[in-house]
Amino acid sequence: MPSITRLTRIKWTKSKIILGFIAVSFISLVMLLFMVDVTSKIAVSNEGRKKSALSIFTDRNYSVLRSISGQISSYQKNSSHLKRTIPLPTCIHPVIISNASAARLRPDVSFVTLDEVCWQTFGDNMSTVGKMSRLSNKLLGEMNVTAVSEERNQTADEVFHDLGLMIDVEGYIYLPGGHWKPIDCDPKWKVAFVVPFRDRIDHLAIFLRHMIPILQLQKLEFSIFIVEQNNNMSFNRAMLLNVGFLEALKLTRYDCYVFHDVDHLALNANNYYGCDSMPRHFISGDDYWDYRILYDSLFGGVTGLTTSQMRHVNGFSNMYWGWGAEDDDIYKRVLAKGYFRSRPEGPVGYYDTIHHDHTITSASPELLCLLEHSFERTEDDGLNSITYQEPDIELTPLFTKISVDIRKQAWKEKWTKCDPLPFANQNHENDGNHGSEQNGNEMV
Ligand code: UDP
Ligand code: MN
Repeated sequence: MPSITRLTRIKWTKSKIILGFIAVSFISLVMLLFMVDVTSKIAVSNEGRKKSALSIFTDRNYSVLRSISGQISSYQKNSSHLKRTIPLPTCIHPVIISNASAARLRPDVSFVTLDEVCWQTFGDNMSTVGKMSRLSNKLLGEMNVTAVSEERNQTADEVFHDLGLMIDVEGYIYLPGGHWKPIDCDPKWKVAFVVPFRDRIDHLAIFLRHMIPILQLQKLEFSIFIVEQNNNMSFNRAMLLNVGFLEALKLTRYDCYVFHDVDHLALNANNYYGCDSMPRHFISGDDYWDYRILYDSLFGGVTGLTTSQMRHVNGFSNMYWGWGAEDDDIYKRVLAKGYFRSRPEGPVGYYDTIHHDHTITSASPELLCLLEHSFERTEDDGLNSITYQEPDIELTPLFTKISVDIRKQAWKEKWTKCDPLPFANQNHENDGNHGSEQNGNEMV
């Protein structure tokens, strides 16, 4: 029988071993955690701007998802709608059909001037196109564009057509203002590209050099509308897109609208720029995010809605002054009206972006608050409520430029008010071109 002291010693020795084991495990755990932390910090700093933007964006992601969680569950049930290839119409350039498995384009992002893109597009027809532009602008000044659209007798492009203000350019009838109709095919969609714009002329030239040949291969009837915010206030992408939609309808009869950021370059000509039975998000990944979709409900950058889908959702909200959330807002409208989003799958929907300073990567709390309460405004903040001064419209060889001085819109008392940030009262030059002037959704 061991004596009590011996027993105690044995127990004590055992406890020491156990304690030692616990201590060693604890120290190893702490060291392991420390190493993981250091490694991830090194990784983050190595990855630099991109990854830190990713984490900030993920925060935004959560708040967006939380705010639309109600619909998310219902749309996930219908996920078969999400990954769709729009069937290509028969009249499309054979190159596209034979490249159905998605040969990847390599966009040229080197500097180019608009003049150079004109020469590239029109070649020897350049001087005729220049004359056509001058004459058509004069005619447009004399036409009452609004009256043309209301009577629906003849649109501006039909007037130009009847007057013979058109030429053939490589299988297309070209009309002033950058309106293209394929000669040997009745395209499924007449597509208005609406591009929100301010101070990005270098991007615009690169965008046009890249996009026009793709659209011609797709044999779309198309026209490009550049909607320029002609003031120094915070940028309001969504309101510009509403203006583009309404103004384009005054000039011609389009049935499909593609809202396209100027810095997005499609990497695959098979990403067909027609509309679909459901509002379309054309991006399945871009280079900035390693060709992934940052959050599944993303509906920004490049989207397409038919004229009737646009009317049905009452267009975009006019209230988003500054960066972000306006795209999530229209997505909420799309879901609220019973649509599901359509999107290409895989490399067909990849884009490269023309790099620019992303000084802001998260929408302000004010804009997220607007997004949270967006349902309150759907019916009376959008296409049916927008007011703006008559824009300057110029038909240039490559596009129709709509230059507009948009202003804050009347705020309705029944809407939940979102307070602007106290510090945000500067003009757009101070923060990556977007501006952070206060939203000013004050009662009017
Ligand atoms: N945009 C512009 N000028 C500006 C801000 C935005 O022309 O000062 C247009 C442009 O078409 C751009 C789009 O709005 O591609 C979206 O803005 P941005 O590219 O800055 O957004 P981000 O890439 O940071 O999401
Ligand atoms: Mn961008």
